[in-house]
Amino acid sequence: MKDRFDEFGGKFVPEPIIPALEELEKEYTEIKNSTEFQEQFREILEEYAGRPTPLTYSEKLSQKFGCKIYLKREDLLHGGAHKLNNTLGQALLAKHMEKEKIIAETGAGQHGVATSMAGAKMELETEIFMGKKDLERQKLNAYRMRLLGAKLNPVTTGEAKLKDAVNEALRAWVKELENTHYLIGSVVGPSPFPEIVRDFQSVIGKETKKQIQQKENSLPDRIIACVGGGSNAIGIFHEFVDKDVKLTGIEAEGSASITNGSKGTLHGSMSKLLQTEEGQIKETESIAAGLDYPGIGPEHSMYNQKERINYKTANDEEALEAFKLLSKAEGIIPALESSHALAQLPKIQNDLSPDDIVIINLSGRGDKDVREVSNLE
Ligand SMILES: *Cc1c(COP(=O)(O)O)cnc(C)c1O
Repeated sequence: MKDRFDEFGGKFVPEPIIPALEELEKEYTEIKNSTEFQEQFREILEEYAGRPTPLTYSEKLSQKFGCKIYLKREDLLHGGAHKLNNTLGQALLAKHMEKEKIIAETGAGQHGVATSMAGAKMELETEIFMGKKDLERQKLNAYRMRLLGAKLNPVTTGEAKLKDAVNEALRAWVKELENTHYLIGSVVGPSPFPEIVRDFQSVIGKETKKQIQQKENSLPDRIIACVGGGSNAIGIFHEFVDKDVKLTGIEAEGSASITNGSKGTLHGSMSKLLQTEEGQIKETESIAAGLDYPGIGPEHSMYNQKERINYKTANDEEALEAFKLLSKAEGIIPALESSHALAQLPKIQNDLSPDDIVIINLSGRGDKDVREVSNLE
């Protein structure tokens, strides 16, 4: 396994964590190509999580934007988003590593819920760290985690938000490295996490390729996905990076690490991030909680540098418009995160021709966002 994605990635962590990362890398490298592991992963994705998810042709969007538009339906995965692909994969890996416990941090609570589901399913003790401020705003997700049997630890240090929860979770991990797996929520963090999470999420792109070949007998011309830490985007892009397909990642305007950030280290790896000239992490702001993160996975920074993937932004208003458009047009309420990807369509409309095939990764469903959107009216 490579430690780096060109100049990005690496292991920027306190010394005591290095052996645990090395153990993880060794175990994962061994297990990754085992048919037994892959077979178990496939089975749990099918029988429990509901894979494969459909690739739905959108008649209305196709008419409106003058091309062929398909939606990859991660909104239909158990839990309502792509996150479970990763949490189930890592929980299975933890089992194989004979760990008894998983710990994770969570911001808005989506990753905490997905981790708690995987922990319950795989009979792993689950402990979640969540900033007290986030907890107060996301009471239902806090209840969900407890309902699923997880122990939820409110974090009161620092600003009592996501980055403080990460610090506390790391501190707790160091105390119990022997029997605990740290279950990271996106293609971020120190090596080997970005590669492991990408491998588990790449099931999205593998299915998409098969499905579009069946439906159109061709590869797509473009794929568009929203980017927070970058896992749903890498998940659908990875199968196509060496193919002639335009790939576009859409960041939230208020937390656009690639578009507006600079090189630095955050949460254990070198990547692009939003920081002040003194290296302080900037406050981010987005209507989509899942995109509200000041960093991005190192592999994205590499593809940006290589100009293999294009990165653009969408603002809150554009995302809201797309949220309403898809709800009315297709009867599908998209997550506000995924709405950022949809918001790219009107912007590229003039470059599209009727035969062009465009796939949007619908990373999650928007039921969780309906209250917030309704409060804006
Ligand atoms: C968490 C989340 C995201 C952002 O995470 P990535 O790692 O960038 O995929 C996007 N969409 C939905 C629906 C999410 O829940």
